[in-house]
Amino acid sequence: MAEQRRTKVLIIGSGPAGYTAGVYAARAMVEPILVQGIEPGGQLTTTTEVENWPGDSEVQGPDLMVRMETHAKAMGCEVVSDIISSIDFENRPFVCQSDSGTEYVADAVILATGARAKWLGLPSEEKFKGFGVSACATCDGFFYRGQEIVVVGGGNTAVEEALFLTNFASKVTLIHRRDELRSEKILQDRLFKNPKIEPLWFHEVDEVIGGEDPLGVEGVKVKHTKTGEITEIPCKGVFIAIGHAPANELVKDVLETHMGGYVVTKPDSTETSIPGIFAAGDLTDHKYRQAVTSAGMGCMAALEAERWLAEQEDDAALAAE
Ligand code: FAD
Ligand code: NAP
Repeated sequence: MAEQRRTKVLIIGSGPAGYTAGVYAARAMVEPILVQGIEPGGQLTTTTEVENWPGDSEVQGPDLMVRMETHAKAMGCEVVSDIISSIDFENRPFVCQSDSGTEYVADAVILATGARAKWLGLPSEEKFKGFGVSACATCDGFFYRGQEIVVVGGGNTAVEEALFLTNFASKVTLIHRRDELRSEKILQDRLFKNPKIEPLWFHEVDEVIGGEDPLGVEGVKVKHTKTGEITEIPCKGVFIAIGHAPANELVKDVLETHMGGYVVTKPDSTETSIPGIFAAGDLTDHKYRQAVTSAGMGCMAALEAERWLAEQEDDAALAAE
């Protein structure tokens, strides 16, 4: 028989939202269990310097997430290495199945599964994933010392990845479908001042091209978005940085979503349409998608879960009288 773990509050996800919920829920003495998922520490483990976390003018993303984990544990949150595969929303307590086979049985659940990198969806991109095509410069940049690289996208992630990759690459071409970046101005300034980076405006990747044996990228075919003209850029690495989509697989058929899959919560709240299920962080946030806003929502979710549990206990006590 599967091992069963009983908890008042199950937190799913180990990004800033999950760990902050862990700190608050543990301090509320509800003995939470936090399941880390496939990416312990979440998205910030895929970056280097974080310059907008209050209290730290500069901190490495992975270091910040280790500190958050340590903090949550120190407050009494149990942190478990596992992945939740399904949640039974029909009955309470909620039964959550996991990849390890353990069943987590929880009175309340905080969903903090965050977001994942988007891909272009080209067959050639799929073919060369892991063989020259990547969505994580901090993970894979090191392999491209002295090589030419392209980065696709025009947001904060693309600009940061392009800047970071200049530590290794001889040249970085930033391919963007418009002629205006949506990233913060401070990052744009750094980008335009960097002699190794060349922006390529009004272009989209049409195909990733490369060799078969060994499998590896040799370049990209790019298409001008206005004229349709196709040209080729030689490169050994292609970094896709076109944004992130909410990791809503566990809930998308059950909870209301909007704006491309973000879970809808009640106004000024982390409550979802199912009592006892709370959602926080990038999973619910199509607008800000920052570490600090995710952490704030994690705090809200833990406080709301604690209050909701207390109300349930009060109702049960009244009914028993
Ligand atoms: P995430 O960090 O996305 O974490 C989600 C967690 O859920 C992960 O731990 C994952 O393992 C877990 N999970 C998912 N599915 C399951 C499952 N089925 N079972 C169990 N666990 C699951 N923001 C800033 O404020 N400043 C920055 O400088 C900054 N830099 C960034 C750089 C990069 C390259 C990227 C990609 C993002 C950056 N961001 C930055 C945005 C920031 O990382 C996110 O806003 C923040 O991490 C969102 O936190 P979260 O807790 O909602 O989710
Ligand atoms: P983003 O802000 O959504 O930007 C995605 C970029 O990719 C946009 O420029 C978009 O072009 C382009 N794009 C999207 N789909 C495309 C496609 N199919 N083909 C070509 N280009 C495509 O995503 P992000 O940069 O990953 O940032 C996500 C969130 O994390 C943001 O809230 C951001 O502020 C945050 N973040 C913060 C920091 C920081 O604070 N330092 C660092 C990284 C990320 P258009 O502009 O034309 O739409």
